[in-house]
Amino acid sequence: MRREFSVSQGQRFLQDVIGRIDGAAKKLNLDENIHKTLRTPRRSLIVTFPVKMDDGEVKIFTGYRVQYNYVKGPSKGGIRYHPDVTLEEVTALAGLMALKCAVVDVPFGGAKGGVACDPKKMSTDELERLTRRYTYMILPLIGPEQDIPAPDVNTDYQTMAWIMDTYSMLRGYTVPSVVTGKPFELGGSKGRNTATGRGLAYVTESMLKKVGVDIGGTTVCVQGFGNVGMNVAKFLHDDGCKITGVTDMTGGIFDADGIDIHNLVAHAEKNKCIRGFPSGQFVPDSIEANTKLLSMKTDVLIPAALENQITESNASDVKAKVIVEGANGPVTRGGDEVLNRKGIHLVPDILANSGGVIVSYFEWVQDIQAYLWSEEEVNERLKRLMTGSFDQVSDFADEHRVTLREAAYMLAVDKMAEITKLRGIFP
Ligand code: NAD
Repeated sequence: MRREFSVSQGQRFLQDVIGRIDGAAKKLNLDENIHKTLRTPRRSLIVTFPVKMDDGEVKIFTGYRVQYNYVKGPSKGGIRYHPDVTLEEVTALAGLMALKCAVVDVPFGGAKGGVACDPKKMSTDELERLTRRYTYMILPLIGPEQDIPAPDVNTDYQTMAWIMDTYSMLRGYTVPSVVTGKPFELGGSKGRNTATGRGLAYVTESMLKKVGVDIGGTTVCVQGFGNVGMNVAKFLHDDGCKITGVTDMTGGIFDADGIDIHNLVAHAEKNKCIRGFPSGQFVPDSIEANTKLLSMKTDVLIPAALENQITESNASDVKAKVIVEGANGPVTRGGDEVLNRKGIHLVPDILANSGGVIVSYFEWVQDIQAYLWSEEEVNERLKRLMTGSFDQVSDFADEHRVTLREAAYMLAVDKMAEITKLRGIFP
């Protein structure tokens, strides 16, 4: 699926998030004054800054940090490096973070950041200089009690280590809790790197149980093979599912007998993409590969790449029984309507991919207490929170005869509204 015009894609994404908040507010019969506060972001910072490239040229980059809402606690959200990053996209992602933290009862508000750049065309040294300068530029907003960044598309534990070091140098002492998703040696949590994928596997199991499908032998297709896609594929494969299609930016791999996921993970980690994997059928064009993947007959489809992938124009081709949103915003509102008409069950992003922010919360707690938990403890608490949240959303959906997306939004908006009412409008 091509992302045609980045600005209009970002605007569309933001309109979808706000439109879904409006829909939930209407169904909840929410007080109009409270509704107004929940449909608008609190702080948006745009920064432009120079970075010296390896050849001596100075390039100017634009970055953003948006704190959508901090009514529940410090705002929290990832940092994305991608050529299509815009203020609207970052605002939409920040809004989803606020809703996500509310739905799973994590005491954070929602934020997101990003820099418009093409990290695939930059050296490690250039990325380090960009990260350190961007951190300096957004310094007034971030901090362990204020706003805590984490990895997102094209950023990882190394990016978080650079942010943590830059922040600490400028403060004059070491502050591990300013970011999550950092290396274990710097105060990162066991299990954070795989948490989003692990959480997705838990909710996929819960959803399959709800619709009466046995997980053993279930077929699964995954769009995107980065942190989220790779890990959910691995966990579901180990649970007995058959992964029959995987795509990334370089194309797609298809195998009706099931892809050897552990070998594909090793290949992708070494080569930074799935291209060149020796078994299965490889489709070298990502648009063609995604068109094939999204229309495959499969039990489960997991879009785990970017937003706006399933829209009103291609949703009618989807043949999956269940969609579990690994990415943020992969299905548009128009896409939702078509999928609902087709009776396809969907676990929404703000519930499905919340494993990342849940373990980020655990990491922040461990850093503040300077007491690290075992991996078993992290995974066990993650499972409890995710399956409990799934059950809460699922029961609410059944009781109110709404979709899981509507239920998750209604619960999140209601919880944020209650807190806003208790705090009152300042001054
Ligand atoms: P990543 O950078 O690790 O991986 C992104 C993957 O998507 C790569 O494999 C890339 O090749 C692929 N991709 C990009 N464009 C594509 C296209 N057009 N078709 C198919 N594949 C494409 O990023 P990630 O951390 O895995 O994030 C993926 C999604 O999950 C994003 O929407 C992100 O916001 C969301 N998310 C991430 C986390 C987290 O903990 N990392 C948590 C919650 C949600």
